Amino acid sequence: MEQYDAIIIGAGQAGVPLSKKLAQAGKKTLIIEKRYVGGTCVNDGCTPTKTWVASAKAAYDASISAELGVNIKSYKIDMRQVKKRKDDIVLKSRNGGQKAIEGTKNLTLIFGEATFTGKKTLLIELNEGGTLEVTADLIFINTGARTLIPEIEGLKDIKYLTSTTILDLDYVPEHLLVVGANYIGMEFGQMFGRFGSKITMLEKAQRVLSREDEDIAEAMHQILTDENIEIYTDATTLAFEKTKKGNIKAKVSIAGKEQVIKCSHVLIGVGRIPQSEALNLDKTGVNSKLETNIKGIYALGDVKGGPAFTHIAYNDYTIVYRNLIEGDNLTIKDRPVPYCMFTDPQLGRIGINEEDAKKQKIKVKVVKLPMAHVARAIEVGDTRGFMKAVVDPATKKILGAAVLGTEGGEIMTVLQMAMEGGITYDRIRYCVFAHPTYSESLNNLFLNLED
Ligand SMILES: Cc1cc2nc3c(=O)[nH]c(=O)nc-3n(C[C@H](O)[C@H](O)[C@H](O)COP(=O)(O)OP(=O)(O)OC[C@H]3O[C@@H](n4cnc5c(N)ncnc54)[C@H](O)[C@@H]3O)c2cc1C
Repeated sequence: MEQYDAIIIGAGQAGVPLSKKLAQAGKKTLIIEKRYVGGTCVNDGCTPTKTWVASAKAAYDASISAELGVNIKSYKIDMRQVKKRKDDIVLKSRNGGQKAIEGTKNLTLIFGEATFTGKKTLLIELNEGGTLEVTADLIFINTGARTLIPEIEGLKDIKYLTSTTILDLDYVPEHLLVVGANYIGMEFGQMFGRFGSKITMLEKAQRVLSREDEDIAEAMHQILTDENIEIYTDATTLAFEKTKKGNIKAKVSIAGKEQVIKCSHVLIGVGRIPQSEALNLDKTGVNSKLETNIKGIYALGDVKGGPAFTHIAYNDYTIVYRNLIEGDNLTIKDRPVPYCMFTDPQLGRIGINEEDAKKQKIKVKVVKLPMAHVARAIEVGDTRGFMKAVVDPATKKILGAAVLGTEGGEIMTVLQMAMEGGITYDRIRYCVFAHPTYSESLNNLFLNLED
């Protein structure tokens, strides 16, 4: 049994920085990873998808360049190069992360799968063969999440794709059926549509992006439809079947009517679930300081449930580290949860939306500004979407925002800073912003608000 001061299970977005900081603080630290350093974000999530979003955007820009007076005769997607560029960026990040761990004093990296065998003891099935038993007073679980595979008849018999396996494609599928029109499904659907696949999206809910306001969901639906993406809502996938020619037949119920959709590939994008089974963690939640019901055992990032984003996992690390090593008393209560969907245009979100306000019976005012009224958007040639903010008329504070538009994530971040700094909307109306930036239009957004 090897003894450490601290053990981290999973080299993800919380685990890697935490392991380095604990080791630098003098703790004999072990980090265990069953696959790749960097976790989902680096290897199967943010990094690879956003490099592909960039390739897809280049294709889209080429397709509409004539409008800007640039005639591109033709363009072709070289999916092998698209994949190679992505692989190079991922590998650089993964290897950089691994080197940084290996170069840190007091820190050991072991590749293998960890399971709890006792309260504070772990068995590691080493990737290179054999096992190892380890123990520590402090254990941090950072095992992330994995794709949720729904129970659908015949699904196991077709070679379906997930958000992870689709990243191995070095060709463009002829017809991709995307099950799930939420953040992940939308990013992949639009990007493969731009690479040249025919795209059909199936969404079980009454609308796409069911957690967003209806106007946002409708606008995004229209944006994708304008790119020839076929979207069905109120659509339940009943069964899959392989055809003799190697294609796939999907039996679906759309608004109660059964239909058959033929496609070449299926992407399952209905959500992700915490990866906690091997750890026997199912019944253990965390408190607001991320400690489980066992003292000294913490869970950070996606595995604990709740908002599954890289910046949340990273913030979990800073909270736990500062509490343990710097003597702080921080919690995850009331922390902001910004996020961005990297479709084109992006959807940047922070705080409550209009529907949250209704549900919570909060008296708010809602203000909108179409991107068609944003000088920068007109000049760039992309006026799709709108900005929207939810404010408290009594305090003039901004309670939430949704920015569906080019650089929506960046514009949302400006509003987040205002929210965090308590800058009220009546001040933003008259802030001097550089012209013509997108954020300059925040003046006009709040001038649209009647006092
Ligand atoms: C397609 C896709 C796109 C995404 N895009 C974004 C985005 O644009 N922005 C954003 O903020 N978030 C995005 N996310 C979410 C983001 O990737 C995750 O929220 C983030 O990686 C969570 O980090 P984590 O530290 O909780 O876990 P992870 O990064 O998932 O790391 C967990 C690690 O633990 C390892 N592990 C698991 N079990 C064991 C075990 N028993 N023993 C040893 N090791 C183990 C895993 O192999 C993994 O490396 C995306 C996710 C996906 C799937």
